Amino acid sequence: MSVSKVLIVGGGFTGLTAAIALAREGVAVTLVERAQAWARVGHGLTIQGNALRVFKELGVIEKILEKGYPEDGVTLTTADGHLITHLETPRTGGEDLPATIGALRPDLHEVLLERAESLGVEVRLGTELESFENHEGSATSTLSDGTTESWDLIIIAEGIKSQTRPKLGIVEDRAPSGLGIWRAVTDRLPEMKGGIAFPSGPGGAFKVGYTPVSDTQCYIFVLCEPVRPDNGLEGWQEVRRLMADFHGEYDFLRDSIDADTFLNFQEIEWIFVEGPWHRGRVLALGEAVHAVPPLIAQGAAQCVEDSLVLAEYLTQEGDLEEQLAAFYARRIPRIKGVVDASLQLAHWEQNPGSPDADPGRVMAEALVALVPAP
Ligand SMILES: Cc1cc2nc3c(=O)[nH]c(=O)nc-3n(C[C@H](O)[C@H](O)[C@H](O)COP(=O)(O)OP(=O)(O)OC[C@H]3O[C@@H](n4cnc5c(N)ncnc54)[C@H](O)[C@@H]3O)c2cc1C
Repeated sequence: MSVSKVLIVGGGFTGLTAAIALAREGVAVTLVERAQAWARVGHGLTIQGNALRVFKELGVIEKILEKGYPEDGVTLTTADGHLITHLETPRTGGEDLPATIGALRPDLHEVLLERAESLGVEVRLGTELESFENHEGSATSTLSDGTTESWDLIIIAEGIKSQTRPKLGIVEDRAPSGLGIWRAVTDRLPEMKGGIAFPSGPGGAFKVGYTPVSDTQCYIFVLCEPVRPDNGLEGWQEVRRLMADFHGEYDFLRDSIDADTFLNFQEIEWIFVEGPWHRGRVLALGEAVHAVPPLIAQGAAQCVEDSLVLAEYLTQEGDLEEQLAAFYARRIPRIKGVVDASLQLAHWEQNPGSPDADPGRVMAEALVALVPAP
């Protein structure tokens, strides 16, 4: 193996899966996370089959499937509740895995954390990377707990807001996508199997969708302008306003949102670092180097694929510099396909009626391209 002792900075999907993928091959892994405690509540997300394939490889698929609600497609309707079509989602992880699952983020993190710790990963919460230095044959970290330590490799899995990325000399930065998103976790009726609805006119949401995360609950997303209007409304009232023209199942969902609903609004940003992701023995990974508007739900999937493929290289004999270059070259075309499709879809969301708009085709082609293993 080209590494035997690795520091991972950040305990999101990227950091935890990289920790598991390396630790199961015998690498000594320390993971630092700046949060003082793991979040116990959080949002829903859609996990595509190609991410499930990685979870299978990492030995956690049974537990992940237990936490999620499987789906093989999504129903598209107009805002007034009329069926447009039912889209089958390609099984990007192979025929033995669901096309997607809906799940709550903290539930998935819990499974990954448990697996990482069972493999001997040392997790230090409330600890930040403050600085690093490259040396011949090693890299040193200075952490917020005052320690300085030497590693074969430092993996920066800090997410899109990474503060270490510019310190690596990476000049690309996060940029606005022109979209904002509300997310809510709420009740659903048993017959509600997941959908996306498109508005008939301006003024409300760009679109609204929901995905079941269990037999009784779902998460809702409301795509909208990136800046909240200054209308004095509370969050839950604003979501109801944005959903006012959406009917059918969406009447039930809208009415279920109240002051006690777990809600979050954020502007959606993106980044794609097309130059090298490493300098010496420090490598940026996952959303620190590629993050997209979540319009084909591939963000986390691409992060966990990074981790699996990286470990494949690092656990072979060879020169680390060559391995990191080969890893990057292998990942870039696949991620570029996801970035291009997601940005094209984001453009069409903001420009309804574009003559060339064909979101169904772009989504399907982007997902089918991910069916071969990464
Ligand atoms: C609105 C929205 C909806 C989405 N929906 C989906 C979806 O349905 N399906 C999907 O696959 N993807 C989705 N994504 C994308 C997905 O959330 C991300 O791809 C994924 O969470 C990124 O994981 P990460 O580990 O790279 O980064 P993060 O999850 O951001 O984790 C980074 C971690 O690093 C820590 N950290 C940062 N700096 C330091 C430091 N210096 N020292 C120590 N710790 C540090 C942070 O506290 C954080 O815990 C969505 C994204 C958004 C914004």
